[in-house]
Amino acid sequence: MNKQVMIVSGPTLEPIDPIRYLSNRSSGKTGYCLAREARKRGYRKIFFISGPTPFIPEGIETVMVETAAQMQEAAERRFASSDIILMAAAVCDFRVKTFNPRKIKHKEETLILELEPNPDILQGLGQRKRADQILVGFAAETDSGEANAREKMLRKNLDMIVLNEISPLNPAFGADENQVTLIRRTGAIHMEKCSKEQIASAVWNEIESMASLPAKSDP
Ligand code: C5P
Repeated sequence: MNKQVMIVSGPTLEPIDPIRYLSNRSSGKTGYCLAREARKRGYRKIFFISGPTPFIPEGIETVMVETAAQMQEAAERRFASSDIILMAAAVCDFRVKTFNPRKIKHKEETLILELEPNPDILQGLGQRKRADQILVGFAAETDSGEANAREKMLRKNLDMIVLNEISPLNPAFGADENQVTLIRRTGAIHMEKCSKEQIASAVWNEIESMASLPAKSDP
């Protein structure tokens, strides 16, 4: 398979001071399963970008990053030469406005951290997407999942969005199983709860069915 694949995975880590950071519960397992499935299907050119996680696929060119800014830089650098891009990373929405170079003392009664939003990496890629590229995003929603995810797919100019419906029965983050809906511009596939390996296979089935269609860009 001659297509160049880029998979972005894992959480980001946003330093507060030399000791502490902000992050989230992403294990990176979804991105890991997507990369292994791509290799199983014969894709030889896979580029993997990951935040800090132990789920790093073996034998695949990988760049490890920590912050959203580093992840954005790595993803943008390889975007133009990628045919299929899967953005499965759980990017921290916020980072501290000013990194404290010295350890913050714990004597204070209250500590107020000033945060600023991180860039939306996927939205930036969507704006630059060419008609011959396939761009897939992920969404974790607790309410009105499908409507919100569809809106995100259009706003970020994606070909598909994989919706995780987060609930007490489906924590998704850190789990081995997940319950997802695959949403494309043409319709949606609701999947039963299953392993992340099975989800990766279903995602790749959809991508491969799109790859054989004439590519289109805007809605
Ligand atoms: O807007 P929301 O965070 O729900 O969108 C989720 C999708 O956008 C995921 O594919 C995630 O990797 C991506 N994202 C991003 N940069 C951000 C936030 C989310 O690329 N700052």
